[in-house]
Amino acid sequence: MSQPIICKVCNLALDGFTNEEGVTYRHTISDAMDGKDINHEPVPIPAPPGWRGHCDFCTAGVPKFVVPARDFTPPNAPNGFSTGDWAACEWCALLIGADRWPSVVKRAAKHFQRRMGFPMPSKSRKAVQALYRTLAENITGPIRPIEGDES
Ligand SMILES: [Zn+2]
Ligand SMILES: [Zn+2]
Repeated sequence: MSQPIICKVCNLALDGFTNEEGVTYRHTISDAMDGKDINHEPVPIPAPPGWRGHCDFCTAGVPKFVVPARDFTPPNAPNGFSTGDWAACEWCALLIGADRWPSVVKRAAKHFQRRMGFPMPSKSRKAVQALYRTLAENITGPIRPIEGDES
């Protein structure tokens, strides 16, 4: 994997995508749907060595696995764009490997509630479901451990 790019303002991982103007970086769809404070222009910087993001699915766990995926445009998010692989924590990787997507959504909703102090609105929940369904169709191979991970 190449070095991740993060936002200097909020310290979250950014998604890069290419258009006529070159490469631009945006906050990720999962962070946007997660109600994180990303109402600012992303300031892309290379992640410092040892930086670890969070699980792209539940946003709570430390990523340990890579879910290989094609780029896709998610439903309900015409301006969003998913680039490349997703990172998954141990639990989410297990659930995804077993094709238990409803449990992945439940996990995401549970951590949303813990963080925000209120249940995930059903609209967001539906959007997450749709996003994961589209992702599932774009997975290109088996889930594999993040390379160079000794722990
Ligand atoms: Zn930011
Ligand atoms: Zn997770």
